[in-house]
Amino acid sequence: MTNQPLLFGVIGHPVAHSLSPIMHQAAFNTLGLPHHYHAFDVAPENLKDAIRGIKTLGIKGVNVTIPHKENVIPLLDEVDPEARTIGAVNTVVERDGMLYGYNTDGEGYVRSLIEETGIQLNQTDAVMIGAGGAAKAISVYLLKHGIRSLTIINRTYTKAHTLAKQLTVYAEEQDLSTDITVLDWEEAVVKQYSFQLFVQTTPIGMWPNIDQTPLTISNIQPGAVVSDIIYNPLETAFLHEAQRAGATIHSGLGMFIHQGALAFEYFTSHKAPIDKMKSMVLNRLQQGGT
Ligand code: NAP
Repeated sequence: MTNQPLLFGVIGHPVAHSLSPIMHQAAFNTLGLPHHYHAFDVAPENLKDAIRGIKTLGIKGVNVTIPHKENVIPLLDEVDPEARTIGAVNTVVERDGMLYGYNTDGEGYVRSLIEETGIQLNQTDAVMIGAGGAAKAISVYLLKHGIRSLTIINRTYTKAHTLAKQLTVYAEEQDLSTDITVLDWEEAVVKQYSFQLFVQTTPIGMWPNIDQTPLTISNIQPGAVVSDIIYNPLETAFLHEAQRAGATIHSGLGMFIHQGALAFEYFTSHKAPIDKMKSMVLNRLQQGGT
């Protein structure tokens, strides 16, 4: 990529709270790239025009956040297979007049999990709490990285069931042997000793409801990893409780940084300065950002 200044950004609604601008701008500055990263507040009725505007204005890439991650898909020229399976795109890159869509949330999660905990996914039976957008992205990549088994629990049982069916189709297409099941919430609490990994993907425990936990950790395997994708607060009550019970804990900050780092690499073809991105985001969170 040349050294001429290029424009990147994030589109969402609302988007003023997004930490992506400080994270990406810090990365550009650290590598001496003269690029700019801007937050674009795009109302749902303007999404089509905004996506067309990427090409006409010469924007090179955007991150996509709530509520546009799903609706952006039909507006793109090409969408990578995992993002299509997930049904959501969080990174759009312009190349030679074409718009390509990716989802870096799931891969970002797995990279962070492995980096911080050293977990061996092919020897891991995981239980995932939640079946929403983030859960879908994470579970596709847990499968892709060879997790031994995945059990899903969710407040709305039918949604867990639907996700399990979609993952089973994905596993068959990709020739993966992951065992995928759905459990009642209470049943999972009783069986918690059978899992080596807990992945908490609901907003339970997120600021300002910081005292809430999705389930009581009472009987876990020694060395189990408990992971919560919330990063505000950095350590949720669930993680606190898990640590007291002897678990290795993993917070959502790493996922956020790594999904951004992967997007940065799609945008620039440069290796992302992860430490700098993390320290900028941490700084902002400690000052009370969301
Ligand atoms: P989503 O699509 O709305 O899904 C939310 C999930 O949580 C659903 O499974 C929902 O269950 C469940 N849920 C919500 N409130 C609940 C409650 N009070 N009790 C039990 N279950 C409840 O949301 P999302 O986009 O997946 O985001 C979920 C969380 O992940 C948010 O806290 C978000 O900040 C965080 N996140 C973090 C990162 C990161 O980079 N670290 C990235 C993305 C998301 P039902 O199906 O029953 O509604």
